[in-house]
Amino acid sequence: MKGIATSEGYGIGKVLVVKEPNLEFTPKTGCNAEQELKRYRSAVEKFCIKTEKAAERVKLAASEKEAEIILGHILMIKDPYMSGEIEKLIENGQCAESALSSVCDMFAAVFSSTDDELTRQRASDVNDIKNDILSILLGAEEQDIFDAPENTVLVAKDLTPSMTARINKANIAGIITETGGKTSHSAILARAMEIPAVHSVPEVAEKLKNGETVIVDGNDGIVIESPTQKQIDEYTKLRTDFIEYRKALSKYIGRETKTVDGIKAELAVNIGKPDEANKAIECDGEGIGLFRTEFLFMDRSTPPNEDEQFDAYKRVALIMKNKPVIIRTLDVGGDKGISYLKMPKEENPFLGFRAIRYCLKNEDMYKTQLRALLRASAYGDIRIMLPFVTCVDEVRTVRKLIKEIMSDLSQEGIAYKEDIKVGVMIETAAACMIADILAKESDFFSIGTNDLTQYIMSVDRGNADAAYLYSAYNPAVLRAIKHIIKCAKQAGIPVGMCGEAASDKKLIPLLISFGLDEYSVSAASVLSTRKTISEWSKREADALTEQVMKVETAEEVEQLLSKSQK
Ligand code: PEP
Ligand code: MG
Repeated sequence: MKGIATSEGYGIGKVLVVKEPNLEFTPKTGCNAEQELKRYRSAVEKFCIKTEKAAERVKLAASEKEAEIILGHILMIKDPYMSGEIEKLIENGQCAESALSSVCDMFAAVFSSTDDELTRQRASDVNDIKNDILSILLGAEEQDIFDAPENTVLVAKDLTPSMTARINKANIAGIITETGGKTSHSAILARAMEIPAVHSVPEVAEKLKNGETVIVDGNDGIVIESPTQKQIDEYTKLRTDFIEYRKALSKYIGRETKTVDGIKAELAVNIGKPDEANKAIECDGEGIGLFRTEFLFMDRSTPPNEDEQFDAYKRVALIMKNKPVIIRTLDVGGDKGISYLKMPKEENPFLGFRAIRYCLKNEDMYKTQLRALLRASAYGDIRIMLPFVTCVDEVRTVRKLIKEIMSDLSQEGIAYKEDIKVGVMIETAAACMIADILAKESDFFSIGTNDLTQYIMSVDRGNADAAYLYSAYNPAVLRAIKHIIKCAKQAGIPVGMCGEAASDKKLIPLLISFGLDEYSVSAASVLSTRKTISEWSKREADALTEQVMKVETAEEVEQLLSKSQK
């Protein structure tokens, strides 16, 4: 059976189908309001006590953050508007069950109808609260999953956060549900407790029977019912390897990022939304190497104003507490369209009116972003990065704009970082060819290999027929990377990489040998990148690089790199 892989790992165990309690009731009107109100308030009180206990348990099994999700339910039911509406219906003669249900259903319907995934998730929280309080009002028996035997795989239509909170982590081998996805709370909790999980497996609670053996593959989103001995052996090995791998990675938390012979590198994180900075901290990232600000402009109908942007940038700076935060100015165009910006339809969007080109032609909008960035720079180590640069004039124009805005801010008495660093993304063939010129006017470089590969190889990032050419292993791309790093070194400026290649285990020895200073990767790849860097010495990396740079095709490069993996 196939579903959505929501929490990594492999689990093998016996099924326990979690039955939902029977919450049917007959709605009554004309009730004694005083009595019903008392019943309702006492049920809410019990609910709060139960929820606090559950949160306490989650805090121990997962973390404070996950416990807060559960405690959020108390805040919701105590919200004056929500509780006011429920009590109003009770005062009008409805029974507690029916008042609670109709108000919760109304809230859930409003949340479900929005476009925002996270708000839609709130609908399942409201349903969860409703069912919990209903079960107290109706005295409905709840299955206690806390005492489930060892190696239990929980199977449910929808595993609510409060059910998940009753999980005894040591005994649960996996979780399978019929609904939900990566952002469901039960998925978030499963990840925090490191329990493999697969969500959205159709009719799984009907299909699987209590006590039968099942495999949960939380990496590929697969559930195997009544597996053969061969499958059990295969997955037991996968599970052992995965546990080993995870243990090995967690060793790297709190360590410096350096090669065997002590050459240090900076290991930063790529983010798209301010909140993701928390993830960067959780995974021990040493800074933000790329904040893709275009995501602030998406999912809305007008551009974010200066204060909105200022709040977002300041938030990241504060979360990162003086660690470097590289914020890239709007990289719109190419495959990243923003409908309200009314960009013209183009024959070749990747070669057209994109990023810095668009921004410099829409100066007011661009100045708003630069002003927000400068204001936020007073709160941390913010650095500005320019995308899709092809000539030095673009850098000069942006520097001029920044100077003008700085002088305005000074006159208005608004604080900003006077020596703010302005760097350039090297991701076009032109920028690579003039890297020596750009280096003289940039405070740092960051190599965007996602685009650099596209522009060096003249191959559309998204074209399936030409995809065989889209690889950073091509000697052309490797030479480009080597050249860019050399130019940065000669000019004495730091050079990082924020494209996907920075976390490619096979390429890392080459990057060490070329002298890359900073690796910026997704939060999930931080520890594996630190691990790979720390497995190589400069001498070994140089020897491999010398061989690699002599071969003539991408296949040969890949073969050599694969063979030499640690
Ligand atoms: C890149 O091009 O490598 C890069 C990091 O930017 P994006 O993927 O956002 O184009
Ligand atoms: Mg790019």
